[in-house]
Amino acid sequence: MQPTQAAQNLAENSPFNFACHDALPCFTQCCKDVNIYLTPYDTLRLRQALRIGSSEFLAKHTRSFLSRVSNIPVVQLLMDPRTLCCPFVAEQGCQVYVNRPWACRMFPLDLSSTDAQFRLIAGKERCRGLCERSRGTVGDWLERQGVLEYAEMDREFQSVVPERFKPGAPMNEGLGRVLFLAYDLDRFAELLKDRRFLMFHEVDEETVSLVREDMKELLRLAFRYIRAQMDELYQIV
Ligand code: SF4
Ligand code: SF4
Repeated sequence: MQPTQAAQNLAENSPFNFACHDALPCFTQCCKDVNIYLTPYDTLRLRQALRIGSSEFLAKHTRSFLSRVSNIPVVQLLMDPRTLCCPFVAEQGCQVYVNRPWACRMFPLDLSSTDAQFRLIAGKERCRGLCERSRGTVGDWLERQGVLEYAEMDREFQSVVPERFKPGAPMNEGLGRVLFLAYDLDRFAELLKDRRFLMFHEVDEETVSLVREDMKELLRLAFRYIRAQMDELYQIV
């Protein structure tokens, strides 16, 4: 028996017949009543698109908390409570398309926990773009979606957690809060105004100028700071 579409595992070089466009009856339906967990880079891109600060973005558009079991930060995009739609969807489509989150770029795919790298998370009956004809592989499609840059930034974020930290193990609550700085970059930028902080963490003037101009570099500096805090604690415990 063939596996159902939604359970199908795919590798990067698997053929992928898919095309999403506004003539499909399902257009924008996938932007409704959906759980979207944001990465720090998603948060950065969205707040830049909306031209608001990170704290305002987090307060207005997300539900964020430290996971009760692991103390790892969880940041979830809030749907409109009346319509259950994403706040950024309009009749014409996504209003933040260029800066849409990683999960939206991936849909109808997600990462797979099996040897295959990806899996379909929607079937043809829900996601009509899977019935469209198109040529290419999963890898080609992900490249066109701009997933690679998001995946690279997420790899950098994942590497702030020391190898000694076992996935699923509870994290020190204070470190969970430090980890949250990667989402709330305005708060991290505030720390950089303190000369003693810069000296203590050996952040030179050149880096300070760079991160003032480039928010992606600011995020990378936050990752370095968080990793240093993690290393310090894990040397003690
Ligand atoms: S359900 Fe699939 S085809 Fe339809 S709009 Fe969403 S991604 Fe595109
Ligand atoms: S961010 Fe854009 S693509 Fe993602 S759910 Fe919202 S409207 Fe849809």
